[in-house]
Amino acid sequence: MPASTSSSGLAIHGGRPVRPTYLPYGRQQVTEEDVQAVAAVLRSDYLTTGPEVPSFEAALASAAGTPRAVACSNGTAALDLMLRALRLPPGSEVVTTPLTFVATANACLYNGLRPVFADIDPDTLNINPDEAARRVTPRTKAILAVHFGGLPVKAAALRDLAEDKGLHLLEDAAHALGARSGPFQVGSIGKAATFSFHPVKHVTSGEGGAVTTADTGLAEAMVRLRSHGISVEAARRHGPTAGHYYEMVELGHNFRMTDIQAALGRSQLSRLAANVARRRQLADRYRSKLGSLVRFQHEAAGESHSYHLMSVQLSNEWRHPRDAVFRALRAENIGVNVHYLPVHLHPYYRQNLGTAPGTFPEAEAVYGRLLSLPMFHSMTDQDVDDTVAALEKVAAANVL
Ligand SMILES: *Cc1c(COP(=O)(O)O)cnc(C)c1O
Repeated sequence: MPASTSSSGLAIHGGRPVRPTYLPYGRQQVTEEDVQAVAAVLRSDYLTTGPEVPSFEAALASAAGTPRAVACSNGTAALDLMLRALRLPPGSEVVTTPLTFVATANACLYNGLRPVFADIDPDTLNINPDEAARRVTPRTKAILAVHFGGLPVKAAALRDLAEDKGLHLLEDAAHALGARSGPFQVGSIGKAATFSFHPVKHVTSGEGGAVTTADTGLAEAMVRLRSHGISVEAARRHGPTAGHYYEMVELGHNFRMTDIQAALGRSQLSRLAANVARRRQLADRYRSKLGSLVRFQHEAAGESHSYHLMSVQLSNEWRHPRDAVFRALRAENIGVNVHYLPVHLHPYYRQNLGTAPGTFPEAEAVYGRLLSLPMFHSMTDQDVDDTVAALEKVAAANVL
């Protein structure tokens, strides 16, 4: 027994933590190459609206398997741009998952659209296609699917549903760059898909986002809307002698990505395959060592998870509530987290959309058992083993 002030030995009771240093749940990796790419932009003539943005867009389109990508300032702006460019009638309904970051549903509200939640499948943590079908009404115009943690949604079922009901299938792919579902690269499953390059995601540009699509008209609309709704065609039409001339043709925003961000993003994207491969190795290690202590997301044949998050559900073997386990693991220097409080339970949604507890029982039950374990591509095998040791230590304790 290590020196301890408690018979349990748990760090939360004054015992020695499983590891001396804190292991975060996620961490960006910035290489010397990334630094050089950014420094080159800083020494160039263009800090923004220069050549790096289209280069990044081309690299991302290729990674997502789509003809076009439109870069913007962050993942929330990407969702907003995508929904705005689709020009859905005000009050239209968008079916989405309650188990996501609030930005997914908020982007509907920015555009006068109503997010309608459909419960998840506890095996995948993704929207249940049967539940999505049940929520479709004559006002539904789109399904906004989230690939939770990086596990792709059931692409075939959702594509069929969208086609059958005449809806747009949209992806919030913030977690899932580099994931695949059967023949589809994530980003090319539906009409359009959004990505985030926040440092917590597995490819970062500091802040950043993008929308991928095969629809050229939609891409052009998003290019305009990310820069005030100013038409670039007008300047071209009037030629070099009228170089000052531009026209604003609709109400847009400044949602532009800088060249500094684009250079960092493109440099990071060049390591995407190795990054996802390493995450998948780490996930295999967790899967082989944690046994029945936790329940993992079910990755079906033909699906490939990108493991932005290593989210697991505590199994029925646990005597302790999730929040007690969470605190005990943090004390062991294991930086666990929880993704997410279901959107319909946030006070804003309850007060303004009339959502209530008890309406999405699967999402709510899962939330009570969820834990995101450390997962980032520079993590070592030993880091996984420390996390496993901490989970076993906490599980064996009689009281927390
Ligand atoms: C991170 C995230 C977003 C928002 O991206 P930002 O770049 O932080 O604005 C949207 N949806 C999901 C599912 C996310 O995880």
